[in-house]
Amino acid sequence: MPQTKYDLIVIGAGAAGIIAAIKAASDKQKVLLLEKLPKIGAKIKATGGGKCNITNTLSNDEFMSRFGKDGRFIRDALYGFDSKSLICFLSSIDVETISKDGFRIFPASHSSSSILEAFEKEIIRLNIDLKCNEAVQSLKVDQNSITNVTTQNDTYSANNFIVATGGLGYPTLGANGDGHIFATDTGHKVTTLSPAMMPLFSKETWTANCTADTIAKATIKINLAKYKKYKATGDLIFTKKGIRGPVVLDFAREITPLLEKYDEVPVLINLVQGKNEEQIRIRIKEELSKQVHLNTLELLQTFIPISLAAEISKQAGIDNMKTFNKLSGIQRDQIIKLLIAMPLSIIGHDGFKMAMITRGGVSLKQIDPKTMKSKIVDNLYFCGEVMDIDGPCGGFNLQWSFSSGYLAGQLK
Ligand SMILES: Cc1cc2nc3c(=O)[nH]c(=O)nc-3n(C[C@H](O)[C@H](O)[C@H](O)COP(=O)(O)OP(=O)(O)OC[C@H]3O[C@@H](n4cnc5c(N)ncnc54)[C@H](O)[C@@H]3O)c2cc1C
Repeated sequence: MPQTKYDLIVIGAGAAGIIAAIKAASDKQKVLLLEKLPKIGAKIKATGGGKCNITNTLSNDEFMSRFGKDGRFIRDALYGFDSKSLICFLSSIDVETISKDGFRIFPASHSSSSILEAFEKEIIRLNIDLKCNEAVQSLKVDQNSITNVTTQNDTYSANNFIVATGGLGYPTLGANGDGHIFATDTGHKVTTLSPAMMPLFSKETWTANCTADTIAKATIKINLAKYKKYKATGDLIFTKKGIRGPVVLDFAREITPLLEKYDEVPVLINLVQGKNEEQIRIRIKEELSKQVHLNTLELLQTFIPISLAAEISKQAGIDNMKTFNKLSGIQRDQIIKLLIAMPLSIIGHDGFKMAMITRGGVSLKQIDPKTMKSKIVDNLYFCGEVMDIDGPCGGFNLQWSFSSGYLAGQLK
């Protein structure tokens, strides 16, 4: 039987590829969606701890500004399909959304599965040919156009092609850099790829004693003269090997390149919601005026969880059962210093294995931001994380995948 000639083949059924396929099929294009894993959207399923932080409530301009110098590149895609359009589209396929903190937006079901189920239904409704367990191995170029793709099973031809294969993070969820190979094979430049948004390892081992609690609104900053401006604030969790949590994810983006230069990167952590020395002294005074005989452990627990309180007393060399009022001035100073600037030396991370995001990708210089089309190959488009663009934590990366996928799917 002769093979169908598709209007569009989308390679990769993640956030970007699914939306691209849905948009093209809604515009009456005959679409083939190829996914190498057994199911679509493996990464979407894992996002936001299974709850899927799809986007956020920022205005488009503010959203773009969080992408730094690349903000301008995302402009057309974002204005064409922003958070409001995404919420509206999801609602049209029966996925209602919710924002509990007024910033991050999730499906109201609190489950990424509800989004995946709705996408699956939409793929069927729009008559998109979906083939899972079908890994694209190569793209054939003829006279500056792609003519077909070859998988382990077959060869498929189309008039247009979208590469939506994602980055390199969490390889178990499908990312393996195939898209970067397709890009270089077709004459595109791929910038240096490095892992971002992952837990960090510390030289100090005491963190293993403090793994039970979340430290709210901790601030981490790099303690190297040249890089003092790098800091991040958010929830922090100590681990057996170092630190993790939302604040660490954003901070890791800055630290990865430094770890290539330095064996260890010293950081200082404010464990007391950004309070300074004077504010801490006032708080201590208030606590002691209420209960004059508080011991050190009890006093510290008015600021931080007990495991960390015990650790800080240990590091300051203080018997934590001792009444705080009876500590020497030097001992008190030492405790306050550790609360506002706990030192830690970052020595590494797990690489791409636990990286939620990849920094680097197909060079933006070779992609037209108005269409997501390659400037080199006539009928080739890119969308999502495979490109050299990444945003911070908080729904930025999924929204970018959806926005760029929606634009690519218009086949402009
Ligand atoms: C654990 C985790 C949690 C995250 N949480 C959030 C969050 O809450 N909010 C947020 O905004 N972002 C989050 N992110 C980031 C976000 O998930 C990604 O930026 C986004 O999913 C990228 O979408 P994509 O479609 O570009 O790539 P992917 O989702 O990686 O999809 C690419 C698809 O292409 C397929 N593929 C690859 N090669 C081939 C091939 N040769 N042939 C066929 N198919 C192929 C892959 O199997 C995969 O399904 C998280 C990431 C991780 C890992």
